[in-house]
Amino acid sequence: MKYIEITVETSESGIEPLTALLMEAGAESVEIADPRDILDRMANKASYEWDYVDPSVEAELSETPRIMVYAPDDASGRALARRIRKAAEEAANDAARGAYGPGVDLGTLAVTEAVRDDGEWKDKWKEYFRPFRVSDRIVICPTWEETEVRDEDILIRIDPGMAFGTGTHETTSMCLALLEQTVRPGQSVLDCGTGSGILSIAAAKLGAGEVLGIDIDPEAVRVAKENIERNGVSGTARAEQGDLTKGVPFTADLVVGNLMAELIVMLTPDIAAHLAPGGRFISSGILTEKEDLVRGALEKEGFEIRRVDRKGEWCAILADRAVGDKRAEDGEVPEAAGSDIRVPGAGNGRQGA
Ligand code: SAH
Repeated sequence: MKYIEITVETSESGIEPLTALLMEAGAESVEIADPRDILDRMANKASYEWDYVDPSVEAELSETPRIMVYAPDDASGRALARRIRKAAEEAANDAARGAYGPGVDLGTLAVTEAVRDDGEWKDKWKEYFRPFRVSDRIVICPTWEETEVRDEDILIRIDPGMAFGTGTHETTSMCLALLEQTVRPGQSVLDCGTGSGILSIAAAKLGAGEVLGIDIDPEAVRVAKENIERNGVSGTARAEQGDLTKGVPFTADLVVGNLMAELIVMLTPDIAAHLAPGGRFISSGILTEKEDLVRGALEKEGFEIRRVDRKGEWCAILADRAVGDKRAEDGEVPEAAGSDIRVPGAGNGRQGA
């Protein structure tokens, strides 16, 4: 669908008065791009996405605040664009004669218009999401593609929609490989931050007896439910909106959380509380430079680190909850495989746990 994007460049002090003027000119809603918000987010790292924010954010930091109005690509949209231009001009004149207070700077108030097509970018990512083998047995296939698999393979069909979790990201693929090697028949699995539901579906297909995927984002829960259904595992797996810090009535043999380092640290006590004695925790979404931070939090909570996998700049940690004060005794630590996988204390140059 085509639409007109009308952008007005302003300043920090211009955001509020200009928003009011644009609404007066007939804008039904506005979007504010304020570099200061990014600074606020940097200060508040408890928000999930932070580690994933890409370098373009840094570029945005140097930009001036902008206000965007979206209008239909028709006569009414073009009329609105004209009214906005006029309002911006008037505001510039008013500001120049001090109508907004002495020295109040509304910025350049430059107005630009662009006709956009939401189909342009919306489906672009689909070109990069093709069927692929993510681990020894697990094959991921987008719902709009077909692929061939071997009898012993586990096929997961995914449409991630707006949720995270195609399996192509290192953090998800390491979780899938670890799940493949750790899930035992009949186990209960808690997937904390289920996103597209991909890890819940994998756990169910790997033989788990009961799987609960939770996510704070209602859109992710909707997407996860759809994917669970289309993979035929709704008898075992379910997705619910939930926040682990607020308590979820579920005790698991295995918790998998592909979150981010700070969030894992924050949630580790809650995860320990949701694990059966001797249970396991796969944590992922950890930048390698934050590995020690997460290890520290896990150890403080009585976890024993059994394995650390690395891919690119990411790592995933398999940890066991010790039974009482003796070492966790589930001797089955899956073999580490591949050159970028490290076992703690196996002479890989890192300080062992
Ligand atoms: N499990 C998927 C998605 C990981 S993205 C995969 O491995 O690819 C992480 C998800 O965690 C996001 O969907 C986010 O909404 C969710 N999340 C963030 N904080 C959370 C919290 N406190 N409780 C539950 N889910 C959370």
